[in-house]
Amino acid sequence: NQKASFLVVANRLPVDSVTDADGNRHWRRSPGGLVTALHPVLQAEKGTWVGWAGNAGPAPEAFDLEGVRLHPVSISQAEVQRYYEGFSNASLWPLYHDAVETRTFRRSWWAAYEEVNQRFATIAAEEAAQNAVVWVQDYQLQLVPAMLRQMRPDLRIGFFLHIPFPPVELFMQMPQRVQILKGLLGADLVGFQRPFAAQNFLRLTKHLLGLQPRGHYVAVDDDLADERLVRAESFPISIDTATNESIAAEPEVIKRAEEIRNELGDPRTIILGVDRLDYTKGIELRLKAFRELLEDGELSVPDTVMVQVATPSRERVEHYMKLRNKVELEVGRINGDFGQVGGPAVHYLHQSYDRRELTALYRAADIMAVTPMRDGMNLVAKEYVSSRLDNTGALLLSEFAGAAGELHQAYQVNPHDMAALKQGFLEAMHASDTDKIKRMRAMRRHVRKHDVQRWARRFLSALGVPEQQALSRQ
Ligand code: UDP
Repeated sequence: NQKASFLVVANRLPVDSVTDADGNRHWRRSPGGLVTALHPVLQAEKGTWVGWAGNAGPAPEAFDLEGVRLHPVSISQAEVQRYYEGFSNASLWPLYHDAVETRTFRRSWWAAYEEVNQRFATIAAEEAAQNAVVWVQDYQLQLVPAMLRQMRPDLRIGFFLHIPFPPVELFMQMPQRVQILKGLLGADLVGFQRPFAAQNFLRLTKHLLGLQPRGHYVAVDDDLADERLVRAESFPISIDTATNESIAAEPEVIKRAEEIRNELGDPRTIILGVDRLDYTKGIELRLKAFRELLEDGELSVPDTVMVQVATPSRERVEHYMKLRNKVELEVGRINGDFGQVGGPAVHYLHQSYDRRELTALYRAADIMAVTPMRDGMNLVAKEYVSSRLDNTGALLLSEFAGAAGELHQAYQVNPHDMAALKQGFLEAMHASDTDKIKRMRAMRRHVRKHDVQRWARRFLSALGVPEQQALSRQ
């Protein structure tokens, strides 16, 4: 068994189990931001990805897929409920997204979180070659850096948080705040989406542990070294822009975008939302704004229609069931009040789409509404921008999406301010073509330069992987 010199440790393996027409099960690479980001890096490096395959119970043996070694971690049914649905998605997710929903803390969830983190760390420690680089991903695995360092002080350990990191006052609610902070401090480099998040983290080391952060660094004393420097900085994640652009240029995708417009009755304005059905995404606020604009007579059907893709997500967590009911009730209300025979006001799709269909939707949309109450980055915003090859279209973007830190030329709004949100829709709708093109061109230039390859390169070179090597990892 060859040890790996580069490892990714993430909650999920970058694959889905699929059953083909003959009833045979096999693995297929899954879509999604993180996978797109890291797969090329791993392929070039013949790296290993440690993660959960998504099914409760014993995990299959490690296997190779498309040049990457995949090492499944087994997670029992009870652990899925406590570690994943419980601590990760009903304690951490709401807390880190800043009180959008009440978080619940349960001691049994924490015990499972610790145990599962230890399991991931142990596998990574066994699979890593001497002095290997290990990159741990996201909020489900915040204890892994320190656990891994305890077993393998020779490793370079990086951690990247894909979701926001809350302010000190909020983080202090966490019963296991010290353990989590110490878990993260096991890394050499802790990366965040936005500078604010890195500052929150550094401030917390002072507040909670009495450390003295300086600039981007904080010195920690642990049993393993007298003084070790941990670096905390922002590395806004991005998309594979070149691939997105080439998909957007495919004749079939262009044709499909035209078809979509026709199927929608060729309206003057198509407003599009694409989100996981999650309470952080602001879908309800967006629908409310749309309804009020229809009530006010500022918009009318079938001149303007809305398409809302709401991808099924975390369907067994209670908040998500409730959200689905609320969203679907609101869609029904809007369509009841403003729809026509064969012409709803909101085309609601509780489904998941592949990259080409999504890109066709992006191409068909005049206004893309990305209005989360809080979001780590929001890749959909960047994907929309990169699909607008002729620089038309308008992006309505919440200030509270990580993407707002980069896409300054979007029509930015505070989605909690209903009047401002409605105004944002109208501004985007009534802006001149010249204004829209100027904005879109600037945003496209940004997304083209700051792609996911650059994100991975920047993170790895900050982790001390020599620039030359980090480059060759692309
Ligand atoms: N996505 C998809 N199919 C869908 C809806 C979304 O493949 O039906 C993809 C989308 O293209 C994007 C990702 O899922 O790459 C969502 O990432 P984002 O950062 O916007 O939000 P997250 O779901 O990670 O909170």
